[in-house]
Amino acid sequence: MTDSAAVASSRAPGGAELIDGKAMAAAIRGELRETVERLAENGTRPGLAVALVGEDPASAVYVGGKIKACKEIGIRSIEARLPAETTTAQLLALIDEWNADDAVDGILVQLPLPKGIDTQAVVERIAPDKDVDGFGADNLGRLAQGKPRLVACTPWGVMEMLKRWGKPHGWSVAGKRAVVIGRSITVGRPMALLLLGADATVTICHSRTPDLAGAVRQAEIVVAAAGQRHLVKGDWIAEGAVVIDVGIHRGDDGKLTGDVEFGPASARARAISPVPGGVGPMTIAMLMANTVSACQGRRGTGV
Ligand code: NAD
Repeated sequence: MTDSAAVASSRAPGGAELIDGKAMAAAIRGELRETVERLAENGTRPGLAVALVGEDPASAVYVGGKIKACKEIGIRSIEARLPAETTTAQLLALIDEWNADDAVDGILVQLPLPKGIDTQAVVERIAPDKDVDGFGADNLGRLAQGKPRLVACTPWGVMEMLKRWGKPHGWSVAGKRAVVIGRSITVGRPMALLLLGADATVTICHSRTPDLAGAVRQAEIVVAAAGQRHLVKGDWIAEGAVVIDVGIHRGDDGKLTGDVEFGPASARARAISPVPGGVGPMTIAMLMANTVSACQGRRGTGV
């Protein structure tokens, strides 16, 4: 994947530049489509297998978005919709089947799983070279070693946003003070490791951090992934900081908002990502990128 496709910038209401994840994701999908076409000329078609267990409506929407992106890029998708009563053993058996299927390059089990299923056992059963969510110990360990292979899609998407926004501005993560709010295995932790790998000085904040506002005020990069609507107040943001909002919250009015007070923060930030249209589409784009690169890695095709 290259980062050649520059995305024109626009501004948030408060004046900050908008880091347009929707446009960046479209550019990445376009790049991937070209790669998939080249793979097809050599008789290879990447395949992604997705398991959705239970009836969680948000999960169904996320899976729908992933299948749609596969279609757009030319990735073959295999979808298994399983009832909430599915047992851990049944899900593990399905993963074993997909692990053994050479046409499956990536395996994704949509989280959260219904109560009663052993999520950790499921995540660890996915073959590391097909673990396109990057949540397994092997891929997380490689990231911690500074030798990433398949990286968790949301934090990788955030890194791409910072890189693609920064490049035309002569701005990069290197040397910056970064604050990551959240320490989950899926977002906060890998996010901090990626920023560290890009030479930022990283502070990880979480629910037991005593002075979150004070930490954010020091930051030149803020990545908010606490899952708390409007936790990050506009006046916490240092003048000129770059802010990425990972949070997703659906209000009673059906509208999506993030972890950051977007309007007030955009009056102080240099650049900020919106919700919706920020990290969400980038997460799906990076899942597609992981599937293509898993295919190239597994099948030894370098195109
Ligand atoms: P999580 O609940 O697993 O983790 C939340 C983290 O935030 C925890 O480490 C916790 O310590 C920390 N936290 C909670 N309250 C805090 C507080 N008041 N102050 C400081 N830290 C606090 O959530 P997650 O799975 O990491 O997701 C975080 C958010 O990102 C959620 O809103 C989720 O919906 C969103 N998300 C978005 C995408 C996307 O594609 N845009 C993908 C994954 C998650």
